[in-house]
Amino acid sequence: MALSACENMQMIRTATEYEAIYQQWRGQKIALVPTMGALHEGHASLIRKAREIGERVVVSIFVNPLQFGPQEDLSRYPRPLELDLALCASLGVDAVFHPTVEAMYPESMENLTRVVPPASLTDKLCGAYRPGHFTGVATVVLKLFNLIRPQVAFFGEKDAQQLAVIRKMVGDLQLPVKIVGCPIVRDADGLALSSRNAYLKSDAEKQAALLLNKILRCIVEEARQSAQPIDAQKALPQIAQAEIRAFQEALALPEDSALFRLQYLEAVDAETFEPAQVLQPGVKLLIAAYVGDVRLIDNVNLD
Ligand code: AMP
Repeated sequence: MALSACENMQMIRTATEYEAIYQQWRGQKIALVPTMGALHEGHASLIRKAREIGERVVVSIFVNPLQFGPQEDLSRYPRPLELDLALCASLGVDAVFHPTVEAMYPESMENLTRVVPPASLTDKLCGAYRPGHFTGVATVVLKLFNLIRPQVAFFGEKDAQQLAVIRKMVGDLQLPVKIVGCPIVRDADGLALSSRNAYLKSDAEKQAALLLNKILRCIVEEARQSAQPIDAQKALPQIAQAEIRAFQEALALPEDSALFRLQYLEAVDAETFEPAQVLQPGVKLLIAAYVGDVRLIDNVNLD
């Protein structure tokens, strides 16, 4: 990375290093964008928003082992640090906080105090398939808030359940930080940008990845066009199956093909995340699927 591109941006690895900068910044509004790196336009949109609102912008890059399950992709998660730093510098970030796992968790992770979000928020959707995931997320985010001490922090709607968990934690623990949710950034075909999209290798996998958003858009369209209220429990599996079958037929794949495997497709109240019976405004549709061995998520709101 050309040093000149990053001349004004500080790269910080420890809480002590941050403390020195924080003392210089006292009285200024600090905006934090927590990430796991492998930055793309979705992250960039959060950083731009942070740049608008904050006087100082900190991006954290930390692949948090606490939020990965034993069978998940922690070791292969992409870590293109030089590219990430160059992007941050080009967006006018003041500091990148990139701690080691040892700096974040100096003692064994088994002995760590954790933030456990309520089961009412985490026993469904991603939480049902990733036990402990949101505890790992809430714990690291609280730790980042305590270390960086931002007045405002930015999270993507792409991880809608995560955003709900963070908002709940901030409210319940009365944390002095404002949470700003940012819209999902997609590619021209509708695919929600994700660091995990880098795992999609073949054309067929890329086509399969588009199905997540296609299924959601189909449901939105049905809900829009129907004169009657649509029963979510009935309609969602039917529409998903029809779309998956059409995709398989187009690629001459068998019905038991593992190229696209739906994990969940659910309709919930966008505020409470309680299951929604009927497709109507205020409902959020969320989907998770495996494309080969890559797990992807997406969501849309009905309006
Ligand atoms: P991650 O690096 O995947 O942990 O994501 C860091 C932040 O970026 C989270 O708040 C995500 O919700 C957000 N984010 C990731 N992808 C997108 C996207 N396509 N659009 C908007 N925000 C995103």
